[in-house]
Amino acid sequence: MQIPPKLLEILRNAKRVAVLTGAGISADSGIPTFRDAQHGLWSRFRPEDLANAAAFERDPKLVWGWYEWRRRAIAGAAPNPAHAALVTMEHRFPSFMLITQNVDGLHAAAGSRSMVELHGNIMRNKCFAENIVVENGIADSHDPEAPPTCPHCGAFLRPDVVWFGESLPEAAMLAADKAARECEVFFAIGTSAAVMPAAHFPRIALESGAVLIEINRDTTPLSGAAHAVLRGPAALVLPHLLKSTWPGH
Ligand code: NAD
Repeated sequence: MQIPPKLLEILRNAKRVAVLTGAGISADSGIPTFRDAQHGLWSRFRPEDLANAAAFERDPKLVWGWYEWRRRAIAGAAPNPAHAALVTMEHRFPSFMLITQNVDGLHAAAGSRSMVELHGNIMRNKCFAENIVVENGIADSHDPEAPPTCPHCGAFLRPDVVWFGESLPEAAMLAADKAARECEVFFAIGTSAAVMPAAHFPRIALESGAVLIEINRDTTPLSGAAHAVLRGPAALVLPHLLKSTWPGH
């Protein structure tokens, strides 16, 4: 893939860079995106119908079971070269912020530190009633499929992820908003740019004068607005982009 020389020049001179990632960046680690997960055991359910508080109240075992299934897929996965490239970028640019919609923890596992997890982390649990993170829940010895309960109040535990209809963590939103407004270059990587409010950030960056670069396997609603679109799997495109920008490093 030939990277336009003007884009390489922009990257070499950039001081402030922000990145939004979505499920596509983890696809090369073997974690399916929601659209690609339409097969197997859980294919008859739509994620929107499981990832919400009403569904959990109605059928906690069903929703917990779906998360246990997703957690097993994630537990066996490792960061890929795209996650690693973002760690390199964090060290390369004087100001760098990674905004992820992913809940799989692979950015942190790769070594990213300047980062906000907008949608939480699937490996953490919190109390459904008190909304506080709980590390050691109490398992139901009679029913292994039931969610564990909170040692303080006895309510069920739920994964510490943002469900449909819930607001995003305020501190993460503020940090993401600031990075989008202040950056010179904004990358949208492996995201369909369809889930709000995360999908606003590339638009905010554009309106604030940033150069928008999209890396995605497919066309998205952002593609037409981006200054550069690099088509292909993120695990190939992103390392190639870094090598082209700084040959020999
Ligand atoms: P999405 O599923 O809506 O879109 C994924 C995008 O990635 C698509 O545009 C697709 O074309 C692209 N893509 C697929 N494989 C790719 C690859 N190898 N390289 C580059 N691009 C690729 O994901 P989203 O935009 O993140 O939004 C959906 C929601 O799903 C988010 O809230 C996210 O938290 C959640 N989710 C997270 C995970 C995870 O943590 N790994 C997995 C599934 C869903």
